[in-house]
Amino acid sequence: MPVLTSVSGFPRIGRNRELKKAIEGYWKGSVSLEDMRTTARDLRARHWKVQKDHGVDLIPSNDFSYYDQMLDTALLLNAVPRRYRDLGFDAPEDTLFAVARGYQGERGDVTALPMKKWFTTNYHYIVPEIESSTQIRLASSKPFDEFLEARELGIETKPVLIGPYTFLKLARDPNAEPLELDRGLTNDVAAAYAAVLSRFADLGASWVQFDEPYLVLDKERGDESLFTSLYTTILAARRNGVKVLLNTYFGHVADIYEKIALLGFDGVGLDLVEGREENLNAVGRVGVPSTTTVFAGVINGRNIWRNDYATSLGIIDALHKVTPNVAVSTASSLLHVPYTTQEETNLGTDVVRHFAFAVEKLDELHDVASLADAGDDARRTSSVLATNQALFDGTRVKTDAAVARRLDALSDADFVRTPDREERRRLQHEELGLPLLPTTTIGSFPQTTQVRAERARLRKGEIDQAAYDAFIRGKIDEVIRHQEQIGLDVLVHGEFERNDMVEYFGQNLNGFLFTRNAWVQSYGTRCVKPPIVWGDVSRARPITVEWSSYAQSRTSHVVKGMLTGPVTILNWSWPREDVSHELQTRQLALAIRDEVLDLEKAGIRIIQIDEAALREKLPLRRSDWHSKYLDWAIPAFRLVHSGVKPTTQIHTHMCYSEFNDIIRDIDAMDADVISFEASRGDLVVLDAIHDADFRTEVGPGVYDIHSPRIPSVEEIKGRIRQILAKIDADRVWINPDCGLKTRGEAETWPSLENLVAAAKDIRAELSR
Ligand code: GLN
Ligand code: ZN
Repeated sequence: MPVLTSVSGFPRIGRNRELKKAIEGYWKGSVSLEDMRTTARDLRARHWKVQKDHGVDLIPSNDFSYYDQMLDTALLLNAVPRRYRDLGFDAPEDTLFAVARGYQGERGDVTALPMKKWFTTNYHYIVPEIESSTQIRLASSKPFDEFLEARELGIETKPVLIGPYTFLKLARDPNAEPLELDRGLTNDVAAAYAAVLSRFADLGASWVQFDEPYLVLDKERGDESLFTSLYTTILAARRNGVKVLLNTYFGHVADIYEKIALLGFDGVGLDLVEGREENLNAVGRVGVPSTTTVFAGVINGRNIWRNDYATSLGIIDALHKVTPNVAVSTASSLLHVPYTTQEETNLGTDVVRHFAFAVEKLDELHDVASLADAGDDARRTSSVLATNQALFDGTRVKTDAAVARRLDALSDADFVRTPDREERRRLQHEELGLPLLPTTTIGSFPQTTQVRAERARLRKGEIDQAAYDAFIRGKIDEVIRHQEQIGLDVLVHGEFERNDMVEYFGQNLNGFLFTRNAWVQSYGTRCVKPPIVWGDVSRARPITVEWSSYAQSRTSHVVKGMLTGPVTILNWSWPREDVSHELQTRQLALAIRDEVLDLEKAGIRIIQIDEAALREKLPLRRSDWHSKYLDWAIPAFRLVHSGVKPTTQIHTHMCYSEFNDIIRDIDAMDADVISFEASRGDLVVLDAIHDADFRTEVGPGVYDIHSPRIPSVEEIKGRIRQILAKIDADRVWINPDCGLKTRGEAETWPSLENLVAAAKDIRAELSR
């Protein structure tokens, strides 16, 4: 029997981001609801067809989403909070967008549900909210509609759903934390999923996939029994030959594999890229039930390098020693890789052949499955295998001896900034003369169509560099003037020169490659285009010095320099697979250190080094936190700024407030100030900061920039009071929760005016 191939999920945004354009057009009113739906349907058809043409056996459906699959799951289960339903929209899409983005208009004024990073990816999901009044039941026909839509096109698909365990572990009830999983809720959720399975059995589906990435996390008390009870109910609903695939990814499930085996799933998906060793050991130790197929996730869904077929075959051969029932699968959804390398002709075929995006990974699946089937002789003479091997034999990467020498010369002292923070604090206070509760922003101002159009004109050669630079200077003049007018304390230059906080830096570093169209979804319709680390990294030229010093020359206020930190650059790039992340991060740290010192020389007195993505890559298992990550990531950050004068104030920014558990590590970055997102999520981080006697000054975001709403002065004051209840006023900064580049001018300036007014009011209250 030929080896079955399966795809966990496929990118939905479209080869040319058609879905993004349709949805954003709909939001702006330039695309009708019908036209948006048509685009969505066309994309689904195209994506199913491309997988079919590549010979994929189990093609996913219901991996499509207008915004986020977790939000879809909440809608499926009727877990939509009252305040959104009360808006009374006719089109379900409008309710969905109101939950995702907030709504402010004639129907009401509601904030969006919080968004969080999907495990260790840069994809954000909407955190479902379950109210005590929520009645969980099957409330949407989306999965069935899409299954039937595919069938009408002659394509039998494997419906994919976020599983009940992951759903419940990620959902929250703001009035009762943690979520109370009394038997009622668990039973209702299990019943709803059983109803889904039963309906698919009626429709004649052969496989239904439940994604349970949460299983790769450490288990808390009650988790195992929750998992068991959910799936006992669901599996009992099998009939009509429908098979259930329990799909896990982003790590290993060794601690619960035995339980999984006992439950008798028809298929178990294991991540054999990220959780390879532990998963293989568990399978070897426990075995595989005779009725279960192992879906061997050997095709990496998280990176873009070509699969090493010899390694994948080794894994499959090892599994075959345990069971004959092995399917070949992607290790996770392909949502996290770009669509196709075919657009990347400017990189040259010699380079591009090293990469596989989603479409090329379909070929890899096929190749590995055929080779898995082949005997030793056939493998020995296989030209497919030989061509693949050649990719790994050659010397692809550009190494740089000077970079290695510089790393070797580092000593412990290079990782420590002196004098200590309290001493610096005193000196900086004198130097900067800022008021109590200083106001600032996170760096970027709206990247309007005008800004992007100028960049496109430069790229196309319609204007020259001098004209473009003059345009950017004009934007800086404007934004400096405007910030002065509304009374912000610490100004920024606005980041108009950058397309993206990582790509822009990469373009000025040696060792990076850039793609033309390799977009991946980050949240909603937002996509990012990570650069590729292709060799040893060093700074090619000063990056931001010109813009920051120009901005500083236009004002007597302090202008904050704005850099991206090494951990974030690596986390938001496609890293090399031939050397460690630690080494790549250290190379980047030295490159950014050069920039920090040049900014200081140019008279910049506050420098923000964004580590927006530091929290995101914290390993999912607690036992890996330090040894596999923090032990080198935190020192790398210190290496970036340890060379500055005591009076130079170092800021950092994180897009994530969930660092309660690593609060001491964050403090050990030894920045002088940290700003972070805290407006969409809860404020428990404030307790953690308080309890940990955190020494870094903090700017917890006082309003949510991911939504177009304008927060009122009163709302912001309420937020500031919550912050001051936990943290001494002389350590608090007032800022939005992230950069403003995705926002329009129309909401940005009124929001910031309200922020400044709120800070002034509270300052006055405090001095009374
Ligand atoms: N300085 C960056 C900006 O304002 C930070 C962005 C981020 O945290 N993602 O855009
Ligand atoms: Zn941010």
